[in-house]
Amino acid sequence: MPDWVTHLGTTYIAGRAAGGFNPGLTRLVDMRRLLLGALLPDATRFAVILVDILDWPAVSTFTYLIPFHSLVVVGLLGGALALLFPVAGRSSGKAFGSMMVGAAFHFLLDDLEGLVGCGSTTFYPFYFGKPISGCNSEGSFATVLLVISILGIGVALSSALGRGDRWQPLTLCLTRRRLLGAAALLVIALVFPLFFRQWMIRQNAYYLGFAANPAAFEGQSVELCFSEVIAAQPPTIEEFDMPFVMQTSSSFTQGEWVSVRGIYQNGVIQPTTLVRHRGFSDVSLSLIAAVALGLLLIDTRQLRDALRRLR
Ligand SMILES: [Zn+2]
Repeated sequence: MPDWVTHLGTTYIAGRAAGGFNPGLTRLVDMRRLLLGALLPDATRFAVILVDILDWPAVSTFTYLIPFHSLVVVGLLGGALALLFPVAGRSSGKAFGSMMVGAAFHFLLDDLEGLVGCGSTTFYPFYFGKPISGCNSEGSFATVLLVISILGIGVALSSALGRGDRWQPLTLCLTRRRLLGAAALLVIALVFPLFFRQWMIRQNAYYLGFAANPAAFEGQSVELCFSEVIAAQPPTIEEFDMPFVMQTSSSFTQGEWVSVRGIYQNGVIQPTTLVRHRGFSDVSLSLIAAVALGLLLIDTRQLRDALRRLR
C-alpha cells in the first residue's frame, strides 16, 4: 500500500501521459476528479490511526473500516460525490467515471505493491486474496516511484496555482434531487459494511480470521501487516490488540513497524518473509499529499473572482 504522495503523483503523471498520448482522453476525464478518486479508497486511512489513539476495539473497527478500501464502497462514495460535484455543473457521469479511473489506478498500485500485503479488499465482499505477490514497499523501486511522484506533484501544483489551468472547477451543485441521491448513496455506503463483518472473519479477510482464532491456523501460512513491535525479547508484535511472538534470530527494536509472513506453529510465528517499515514517516507523507490535494482541488480563478467581489 503506497503512501498518498506516490498515489497522487503517479496518478497525475499517468493522467498527463495518457492525455498526451491520446488527446481525446483529456476531454473524457477530468483531472481534479481523477486526483480525488486516486485518494478516495484510503478515505478511512486516518480513522485506522485513531484506533490506536482512542483505543477502539481493533477487530470490530477493522471489519467496519476495511471495506471502505473496495471498489463497491468507493463506487457508492464516488457516486455521491459525482452527484454533488458534476463536471461543468451537469455531467455526473463524467465526474463519476473520472473518480473511478483514479480509484482503479489506486487499487492497481496497492495490489502491485507489498511483499507482504495481507490479501486485498479491492473485490470485497467477494474475494479477499492478493492475486499478485507485490514488490517490496520499502525497496528501491518504491523509493524511485516516490521521488518521481514528488516531482509530479510539484509540476501539478505549479500548473494549478501558478498560471492557472483548464481543469474543471469542483463546484458544489445543490438541487433537491442531487442531494437526495447523494444522501441515499452515502447511507448505503455507511451501512453496507455492517452486514459483512462476520463474513470477513469467516473468509479470513486481512487475516482477521487468524486474529480471531489463531489455534485454527496451526501449521498454516499467516500474514500480519503494519504491526508494532511491542517487545524485543522474545520478538513480539501486536496486531488487532493481540500479541504474537515471532521465532527468529533477527533482532528488533521496540516501537518498530513490521509486516510478516510465516508459519504459525505451537503458538508462535516462524517468519518466512519480513518487511521492516519506515514507521510513521508514511503517515506524514500522506498528510503532505492531503494538503497538496486540497490545493489542487481549489480553483484559483474562482478564488480570485470571489476575492475580487469581496473588495
Ligand atoms: Zn490504498
